[in-house]
Amino acid sequence: MQTALKIDPATGLLAGVRQVISPHFDARPAGVLPELIVVHGISLPPGEFGGPWIDRLFTGGLPPEVHPYFREIARVRVSAHALIRRDGSLVQYVAFGLRAWHAGQSHYRGRPACNDFSIGIELEGTDNIPYTSPQYEQLAVLVEALLATYPSLSSDHVVGHSDIAPGRKTDPGPSFDWERWRSILRSHGWGERRKR
Ligand SMILES: [Zn+2]
Repeated sequence: MQTALKIDPATGLLAGVRQVISPHFDARPAGVLPELIVVHGISLPPGEFGGPWIDRLFTGGLPPEVHPYFREIARVRVSAHALIRRDGSLVQYVAFGLRAWHAGQSHYRGRPACNDFSIGIELEGTDNIPYTSPQYEQLAVLVEALLATYPSLSSDHVVGHSDIAPGRKTDPGPSFDWERWRSILRSHGWGERRKR
């Protein structure tokens, strides 16, 4: 079981978590609060785990010569608020109060531009390789910390990238077991009882 996480509400940063601050962010529109959590899957190169490349992509330093796929995406300016690696370890790239660039063209219940009002969390993985137990646990612990820090969020509004960009994005993929994750969240005391 992962230990509880604390977010400083003034800075939007996780305490005791590795920070690799991305230049790929800006302010949320005035008056807009985070209301949605978007779960993603990412691996670089695709299907390989453990390299430094996700950090490099999100900080604008992916070397195009290392892999043919990197050549395609090296200039793409993207980020997420946080990444959960295969061993459950966390990296934060963007403060939660700010707008990370993770969702792209997207809609949630008719509302466009999900980056404006969402928090993006990447899981290191693919659509077809099962995510790890430490990742499920850490995602539950992180979402709990977010729910505790941002009352505008709700455990009812947690979706996959594929849910808000259907036909364009498939992550986190069928390999992410939503029922397994929700049962961990419930076992930690979130869910129906504390629904907001
Ligand atoms: Zn995604």
